[in-house]
Amino acid sequence: MPHDSAAPPPPGPLEFDPDALRERYRAERDRRIRPDGKRQYRSTTGAFGYYVDDPYTTGTPDRAPLEDRMDAVIVGGGFGGLLAAARLRQAGLRDIRVIDRAGDFGGTWYWNRYPGIQCDIESYIYLPLLEEVGSIPAWKYAPGEDIRQHARAIGQHFGLYRHACFQTEVTGLHWHDTTREWLVSTDRGDRVTARWVVLSGGPFSRPKLPGIPGIEDYRGHTFHTSRWDYAYTGGHAGGGLDGLGDKRVGLIGTGATAIQCVPHLGRDARHLFVFQRTPSSVDVRANRRTDPGWARSLTPGWQRRRRDNFLLHVAGRPAAGDAPEDLVNDGWTTSARLLRSLLPGDDASPQDPEERRRAGELADFRKMNELRARVDAVVHDPHAAEALKPWYRYMCKRPTFSDTYLQTFNRANVTLVDTEGLGVERITGNAVVVAGRAYEVDCLIFATGFDIGAPPAERIGFPVRGRAGRRLAEHWQDGPRTLHGIYSHGFPNLFHLGSLHNAVSVNFVHALDEQASHIARVVAEAVRRGVRRVEPSADAERKWGDTIRETAPDTHRFLAECTPGYYNNEGMPGRRGDSYGRGPLAFHALLKEWRSGDGLGEVMVT
Ligand code: NDP
Repeated sequence: MPHDSAAPPPPGPLEFDPDALRERYRAERDRRIRPDGKRQYRSTTGAFGYYVDDPYTTGTPDRAPLEDRMDAVIVGGGFGGLLAAARLRQAGLRDIRVIDRAGDFGGTWYWNRYPGIQCDIESYIYLPLLEEVGSIPAWKYAPGEDIRQHARAIGQHFGLYRHACFQTEVTGLHWHDTTREWLVSTDRGDRVTARWVVLSGGPFSRPKLPGIPGIEDYRGHTFHTSRWDYAYTGGHAGGGLDGLGDKRVGLIGTGATAIQCVPHLGRDARHLFVFQRTPSSVDVRANRRTDPGWARSLTPGWQRRRRDNFLLHVAGRPAAGDAPEDLVNDGWTTSARLLRSLLPGDDASPQDPEERRRAGELADFRKMNELRARVDAVVHDPHAAEALKPWYRYMCKRPTFSDTYLQTFNRANVTLVDTEGLGVERITGNAVVVAGRAYEVDCLIFATGFDIGAPPAERIGFPVRGRAGRRLAEHWQDGPRTLHGIYSHGFPNLFHLGSLHNAVSVNFVHALDEQASHIARVVAEAVRRGVRRVEPSADAERKWGDTIRETAPDTHRFLAECTPGYYNNEGMPGRRGDSYGRGPLAFHALLKEWRSGDGLGEVMVT
């Protein structure tokens, strides 16, 4: 492991000892590294399949298999799919079918309805298409239910319900060269042909469970946070879990999800046990209602301007004194300097990289010291406070924000069961065991996150056969091959949305909109020219692969020092990422330039 002590000391006295902090971080990480890495988790298939049953839309729709033709099929009805559909509709396409296994639009916001759920990026820039739909969120950080309703409003506004197929899973995609169309098959026997297909599966679609010995023996009530069982807990996402008043509830996991639902469980359960392996960093939230006067003052184009302003602050490198006003002005933008330790970005500063890295590390130590001091200031029990302090760098895990999470541990009916980094030891028929002590619970809830580490072709979840029957899994067997992360040679008219081979920032929906708008421009151009097959050449794909390799951020040094989690492949980070390393601002500019140059012409084939 690289050791920073060799670097020159910073000027001026420090109010803390950086070497001691580095040692502590390293010890905490080492304690958590497991030889089984990602294999420690259990997937929600087979015997655990019931963890992913849909509790919100029950019963299967009685419909005959569809055999029809669409202009476009979009796989995934979350914000990515909705943005693709909306932008394609604006580009003039008429018949658009969104297919999703969920019972409605919303994607991750359809599935995640746990109490307390909110977006953690400001809603005015996170919720897409606000101006198009004519809506303003009621809160700076909107509750999940408002976000889900906004997804539905997009569906209504763009007329997407008419052809939508919910509770339906795509089982295969097959390109037909004679008709120059895709055949989309589903688990309901549908056979839909379409000229254009967009894949937008989303990163958080498969919940995972911890591989704790005995997990299959538990006989009490149990569910994953992404399938909240309100029939059991009572109440709704806003709270009031009146079914838990006489229940002992156990919650495993203390990530971004747990931070939001713990205050509700703590308030309503007879007793809540929170089983912690690694504490999250918890910063101030300061949510507030939208000021109606401010909302009335907004002028057309405001959402794009605000979103761009946020991106500039979290991923740009405005020279000192040159930075425009910080419109969002929250924990993300004020901690931007720390985010830059991990997130790529344009850098115009003349500072030596090593000096910059060192300054970033010191700022990081200060930020984390501040967050640890906040724990002491809020949590009364000194043992609990000590256990709730995060000992790692700020961007090692998803930072969280809450003004009620830490406070919940001051309640007499809430117990923090810290596992000292080792995780829960065992689960029995009625209890969770930590350090030899059994905690009996009536209900066990898993806030243990999602499986996001599968290789890209596998993540799609069904076979894709392109020209001459070539399988995408084969084309990508040595790693994904794309132009701009959007399409691949040999797979015409098929577009990918997500984080592959491009540059995303913390506002993921912004990146999705840039991609969806780009795809819509490509399709509109093909329609205008009467072109029926669009795909990058093998050469364009190879060159983009070279660009990715040349620019991919070297996050290894940073991530290798981090406590394990999905950011660093459970403590085993790859040497390089597969994103565009010059950052999202440069990536958006590159796409724009490509469109205004002769790029569009190059992908129009026949
Ligand atoms: P995470 O993967 O972030 O957290 C999983 C938790 O389960 C961790 O605390 C983990 O501990 C714990 N865990 C796993 N195995 C064990 C075990 N054997 N014993 C004890 N604990 C265990 O999942 P989340 O659902 O919290 O968040 C996933 C992502 O979803 C976030 O990173 C964020 O991007 C997104 N999200 C966004 C929200 C928003 O407001 N926009 C809200 C919620 C989630 P350890 O850390 O030690 O691995």
